[in-house]
Amino acid sequence: MTWKKNGIRHDTKHDRIRLSKGKNHKDGRDFILCEYQAPPDAEVENIRQVRAVYTTGKGRWELHVVCEVEINAASPGENTAGVDLGICNPAAVAFPDDALLYPGNTLREDKHYFQQAEYQTAGDHGPSQKAQWAREKRGRRKDHFLHALSKDIVERCVNHDVGTLVVGDPSGVDDDDWGRHGNKRLDNWAYKRLMNLIDYKARERGIEVEMPDERGTSSSCSVCGHKDRDSRVERGLWKCDRCGVVAHGDVNGADNIRQETLTVTPPLGDSGNGCLAQPRVIHFSRTYGFQPRATAE
Ligand SMILES: [Zn+2]
Repeated sequence: MTWKKNGIRHDTKHDRIRLSKGKNHKDGRDFILCEYQAPPDAEVENIRQVRAVYTTGKGRWELHVVCEVEINAASPGENTAGVDLGICNPAAVAFPDDALLYPGNTLREDKHYFQQAEYQTAGDHGPSQKAQWAREKRGRRKDHFLHALSKDIVERCVNHDVGTLVVGDPSGVDDDDWGRHGNKRLDNWAYKRLMNLIDYKARERGIEVEMPDERGTSSSCSVCGHKDRDSRVERGLWKCDRCGVVAHGDVNGADNIRQETLTVTPPLGDSGNGCLAQPRVIHFSRTYGFQPRATAE
């Protein structure tokens, strides 16, 4: 159930929200009064929408409050970064002089562990409670991962003076192409969620976001532009027939995406620090979040 602006009265003095019941649900009272406690880092103001959502895992109703936030953050700089989304590495990021790789081990481990719990306990009459628990727990951990991932990407963009972030949109890439470059697409839900999270977290920091179709970015060379439809990605490496460069496949893709919106730019391969072939790998742990590791695997 959703309340729009004119069905909501916000009492900021007492931290209360009054939700109108509408004409058909009047039983003496014509509104529901809700008291709330905002989390320390959230400001409840300019409420646009309130949604009542039932969460089966917790067995209770929750109110989701959507607030409008005005953004006037200054752009962090003039640089452009490119992001390539995938499943083996949920994200690869190319800066003008640096490259990052975010492996998805935790996602795969979670999938394995929680799916087993789901299968083992699912009965003849649909999913058992344990199976449901496993599915929801995995969903929450996945969402937490995507939140942390988008936050880390955006923070590193701020540190790299990035004013424009180009995120390749994988929706148009067909499955054949995915199989070919080895880094399969995240499931629909996950990549859309991730794009959405990166988008709003980046805009909050004053970074412009563009999302061009990423088709072709994994089958051309980010250094010389050579196109090769017949997969040059072997064991995750792009090997160019024309200029001979060896690059990490996902970073090559991310750098192509970075260059997509630029008229003139030196490719990452020209930075001379070897990061095209050996990006910095940022590992995730649920305790410490994302931490860099010395070299790529
Ligand atoms: Zn080349």
